[in-house]
This record gives sequence, structure tokens and C-alpha cells, in this order.
Amino acid sequence: MTTMRFRALESAISRVPEKRISSGVKISDYFGSNVFDKDTMQKFLSKEPFNSVMSAIESGQQIDRKVAEQVASSMKAWAMSKGASHYTHWFQPLTGLTAEKHDSFFELAEGNKAIENFSGSALVQQEPDASSFPSGGIRNTFEARGYTAWDPSSPAFIMESGNGKTLCIPTIFVSYTGETLDYKAPLLKALHALDKAAVDVCQYFDKNVTHVNATLGIEQEYFLIDLALYNARPDLLLTGRTLFGNASAKGQQLEDHYFGSIPERVYAFMYDFEVEAFKLGIPLKTRHNEVAPSQFECAPVFEETNLAVDHNQLLMDVMEKVARRHDFKVLFHEKPYAGINGSGKHNNWSMITNTGKNLLSPGKTPKTNLQFLTFFINTIKAVYDHADLLRASIASAPNDHRLGANEAPPAIMSIFLGSQLSVLLDEIETKVSSRKMTAEEKTDVKLNIGKIPEILLDNTDRNRTSPFAFTGNKFEFRAVGSSANCASAMLVLNTIVANQLTDFKKEVEELLTKNVEKSEAILRTLRSYIVTSKNIRFEGNGYGEEWVKEAKRRGLSNIKTTPLALDVYVSKKAKQLFEHSGVLTDRELEARHEILLETYAKKIDIEARVSVDMVLNSIIPAAIKYQNKLIFNVKGMRDIGIKQDNYATQVEIIEKISAHISGIKDCADKISNELDKASAVEHARERAVYYCDKVKRYFDEIRNHADILEQLIEDELWPLPKYREMLFIK
Ligand code: ADP
Ligand code: MG
Repeated sequence: MTTMRFRALESAISRVPEKRISSGVKISDYFGSNVFDKDTMQKFLSKEPFNSVMSAIESGQQIDRKVAEQVASSMKAWAMSKGASHYTHWFQPLTGLTAEKHDSFFELAEGNKAIENFSGSALVQQEPDASSFPSGGIRNTFEARGYTAWDPSSPAFIMESGNGKTLCIPTIFVSYTGETLDYKAPLLKALHALDKAAVDVCQYFDKNVTHVNATLGIEQEYFLIDLALYNARPDLLLTGRTLFGNASAKGQQLEDHYFGSIPERVYAFMYDFEVEAFKLGIPLKTRHNEVAPSQFECAPVFEETNLAVDHNQLLMDVMEKVARRHDFKVLFHEKPYAGINGSGKHNNWSMITNTGKNLLSPGKTPKTNLQFLTFFINTIKAVYDHADLLRASIASAPNDHRLGANEAPPAIMSIFLGSQLSVLLDEIETKVSSRKMTAEEKTDVKLNIGKIPEILLDNTDRNRTSPFAFTGNKFEFRAVGSSANCASAMLVLNTIVANQLTDFKKEVEELLTKNVEKSEAILRTLRSYIVTSKNIRFEGNGYGEEWVKEAKRRGLSNIKTTPLALDVYVSKKAKQLFEHSGVLTDRELEARHEILLETYAKKIDIEARVSVDMVLNSIIPAAIKYQNKLIFNVKGMRDIGIKQDNYATQVEIIEKISAHISGIKDCADKISNELDKASAVEHARERAVYYCDKVKRYFDEIRNHADILEQLIEDELWPLPKYREMLFIK
């Protein structure tokens, strides 16, 4: 029992849950203690600079140099009082991860005197060597410079790691020529566009609205696996998912994991990372077991979208770090195990005014309900018009395993409204018309609108199969992958809704100039949207084969693979949309498109190579070892004169093993051959398509042979931790 698998199993089985030291301290006593938030800033800054920072944050304007100097020095004082020695600009390059480069506060001043310094310019801007981050051709090699610039709307925080503490400053990341190279910069622009467009529309209902924030609550699903078992699986280690593995006899069929009691070792881990998250001001609220064995979920209370995205990126980082302390590895991959549910990241999204009104929450009066319907129907129209763009925003190699597989929302974009609102929309469609309404008709429609209950009970039926569902006071975008940076989906969603609200305002204004009364103008415009966007509404089972057919009849797209889903980013329509709303330029879109394609190709390339390595180095040798054992047995039987009938089974297994070995070898050769050709394809899109069509197609076949071998071969000789071990030992 010397193989890595058995050593890993021994370690995994003998783990003792970390003792949780219940300090009796309330969360509220230390929540946000590592954040340079508004209150802390107020304590460390004098009144004038504090006010100018606050107003700059609100208006989105630049902070002047003098104020930046003062903020930097107060930030340094605070960070050092907390024990921080270094600082870093913290940003979100297009790798999907976060990036940091630490600098020390320490400096040598005149006469070699050691001091601690942090200047305003170091706070406002830095110049990390950008040449190793993806730029999609924007950054020429001779101009490798990139800049990170402070985002004051997301507070600085202290990241603790071991004994080290670092002050982290959230920043955007742009090229020397000003193009954005990250997720945050365009997200901020999209949120700004939404703010403006939504405020404009709110003027019809409430003149006090001067500011609208998009809100976001992110549910994070993940798997946990023992660290030793993880390290014994080259596929998990290098690709984040298992490329091989025979299904465990017990999987999720008993449905005994969902909401079940949390295993002690896992609980200790959750407790520990929650403490870290609370210190960072991440308002985690729920935790529970998910559907699959060893799958879990956590969700915070919703926040302003930019902050929610930062917090989710930070949370993933914290979870990975804390997991190490507990000898766990967190798997954020969308599909770590075949045949077992994958992981997503539901994006709960709404809009809130500075007056505290949730714009997707029905109110008490016909007027507030008309406002609700306005935002509700405009969102539906936006999703209808740009469904392909939303699909693209969540496209990635790992998420392809999820979308359309019978568990996650399908790759077809549709919206679930719930029956009450569906009926209401149908009613508006029949009762409102393009001619002037009679007083009676108007009263009737208003009466119906006034009747929308504040709490939409009907949504408790919770159609879980819809990729974009209305859940009472928010939309839930469920197709986002568990490892994704949500900014990708959020910058698209907020841009398309902003754009739609702007169009809406124009159309209503047009009717107003024709002397149509205001509420009638609004209703007429909404009615026209209800009519045009009808096809995107679907209340039935999104996982069924029926829906695939029905969606096709309706002309909805069903793009199954990433390389094709990404095409829409460089379509004329998308370029116009993003340019018009000031979120992304043509060049930035082209660059992003190329980066996403390249990432896709690289991921498939790595999976292919790992797969070939594993079969040649581990799986075939194990099969041969067992085969030799059988051959020895057969020979022995024959030598002592036992009749052939008595070792026919052994011979049969020997032959089966040979057949699968040669099947594997055949696939491995084909993969290697296609890899050579794939890497020679010049154009990024064609290369990604090649990987998708020509390389990936052998993955199932090679796996199938390997998984049958796993069933045939003596357990003691199998080199890789098995599904039952990875999923059930904790
Ligand atoms: P479920 O698993 O039933 O979908 P959860 O309670 O796990 O529900 O998650 C719901 C998420 O939606 C939470 O993060 C919550 O804060 C968030 N949410 C609630 N109201 C809003 C809102 N107005 N805007 C954005 N997110 C919201
Ligand atoms: Mg949910």
C-alpha cells in the first residue's frame, strides 16, 4: 500500500476536525474591523478631506491630489495601527482571478534613516508590469505598461495571511493607451450608465430620486475535498475537474445531503472562513449543504453591485486560504465531477433608489406599482433583445459542462415571471391599446395594477430550472458559473437595462409631445414591450427536451459551446450598444473576445494533455499490472493441469483489459495528433473552435475506456482516488 492514493486515503481518514474556539464575541463586535470604511475614515481624516472624498465617491468624480495625500496618510496610519507592513493595489485582470503586487511602507530616507511612507500618488496610481496579464493584442510588447488606479467607491481593506498583513486598495486596471484590461473598469461604467438611465425614468414617479444603485446578492456554490486526495489527482490539481473516475455507487440519488447537517470538519472550516470574511466586511448570511455530496453554498446579504463583486472575489480568495488550514481544497470549478451536480453562482439583482425604494418590488399604490412594472418590463425587454449577450457573458470552458446538462439552467435564455405577473402582463396586453383609453378602461387597468400584492407568494413555487427568474423583488440570474468573476455578467446586464431604460424614456417622451397623458404613455410603451418580448417568457420546465423544441420554434438561440457563444461580443449590435453606453469601445470588445477565446483554447489544451499523461503514466500501467497478475494466475492453473473452462473468466478479463488499453491508446494518439494541428491554427476564433470540435470530442471516449478499466481492475492497484473516496470522506 505504497501508492499515493493509499497514503492520501490514510491522511484523509485520520483527520481530526479543528477545534473551534468559541470566543463568545459577537459578529457585530468585529464586523468590518479590517476595512477602511466610512466610519474609520471619518475617525482618521479631518472633516474637510473626508467630505470631499465622500462627495467624490457619490458623484464618481476624481479626487484631487491634495486630498489623496491626506487619505493616503490616514490609510497608512490606520493600516499600521492594525499591524500592516505592506500595501498593494488589488485588481481584477481578465484572467478572472485577482492580482496583487505588494510594496512595503518601509523606505530609506536621507541619511539611511528607516521610515514608513505611503504617498498620495502611490494610493492613486501604480504601474505594475502588465506584460504578463492578458490584453488581447491591446498592449504591444514595446508598450507593456499598464496602470492601476484607485477605486474609492470600494473601501480599502487589510488582508491577513499567516503573520503578514497587507493593506489592499481596490483599483481598476488600464493600458498605457487608456483601454481597460480588467473587469472592474467597465463594470463601474455600466453601473454609472444604469444609474443615470434609471434616475431619468424615476422622474416620472418620484422627483426625489437622484441616485439609483444596482444591488447584487451572490450565492456561491463550491465543493470541498480533502487536500491529500486532491493532491493525488493530477487532473484536479491541473484542471480543477476530474477527467476520469467511475461513478460512485452512491452519488446524490438518495438526496440525503441537501440541507443535511453539516459535517463537523466542514463546519469548522465554514466558521473559520466566515470569521475572516466578517473582518473584511463581507456580510455572509447563509450556509448550507447543497444537492451533491461534499457540495456546499454560502450567500451574503446583497450589496451595491461593485462592492458585491469585489466581496465575492475576495471571499473566494479567503476560502481557498482558510481551507488550507483545515487540509481541505475548495473546488470552485463548475463541474468537478461527472454525473454529479455542478456549481453555479446565482446573481440576485435589483435596483434601489437613494430614497430606499427597491425598484423591482411591488408597492402599495397603483403609482408605485406602475413604477415597479416599468422597471420589471424594461428588464424583460432588455433580456429579450440581448439574450445572446447574456449567454456570452457567462460562457467559459467549465460552464459549458453545466449549461444544458440536466441540472443547471439550459443554454437557452428565458425568463420566469410567476403566474400572477404573467396574468397581469397578459391583461395589460389586452386592455391597453394604441388608441386613447376611455376613463373606464383606465380605471380598470389601474385597479389591476394596484392589486399586485406586495409579497408575491406565487413565486414560492420557485421554478428552479429557469436561467433568469423573477423571485418576488429581484431577478435571479442563475446561469453564472461558480468560478466566474460576476462582473462579466453584471456589466452586460446593467448595460442592457440602462440602454433599454434610455430607449423607454425616449419613446414615452415622444408620446408626451403628442399630448398623450403620462400614465397612458407609459402603459402604451410597456404594452408594446410586452408584445415584442413575449417569446422570452417561459414558465415551464427548463430542463425538459420539450422546451428545447419549443424554444427552437420560438426562434430563441441555444448556443451550446463557448467559442460560438462569444461571437456576439464582436457583432455590430453589441459594438453599438457598448459604444453608445460608454461601457466598452470596439477595440476593448475585440480584445476581450480574443482573450476569452484564448482562455478557452488553453483550458481544453491543458485538459487534453493532462488526460493523455494520466492514461499513459498511471492508468495503462495499472491495467497492465493487473493483467500480468491474471496471466500469472492463468499460466499457473494451466501448468497444474486445470481445465481451461475454469480460468475462462480470467482470460476474458485479460482480453477486455487489452481491448480497453488499445482503445485508450488509440484516443490518446488521436488527441496528440489533433493537438499538434490545433496549436497551428492561427486565428483565435478558429483555434478555439478547433479545440472544441476536434480535440474535446475524444474526451468522453478516452474517459469511458479508463472508467471501465477502473471497474475491472483490482482496487489495490488503482492509482487514483476514486469518486466514492473524494465525495464521501470528510
Ligand atoms: P435562495 O437560495 O432561495 O435563492 P438565498 O437566501 O440563498 O435564496 O439568496 C438570496 C440572495 O438574494 C441573498 O444574497 C439576498 O441578499 C439577495 N437579495 C435579496 N434581496 C435582494 C435585492 N433587492 N437585490 C439584490 N439581491 C437581493
Ligand atoms: Mg438562489
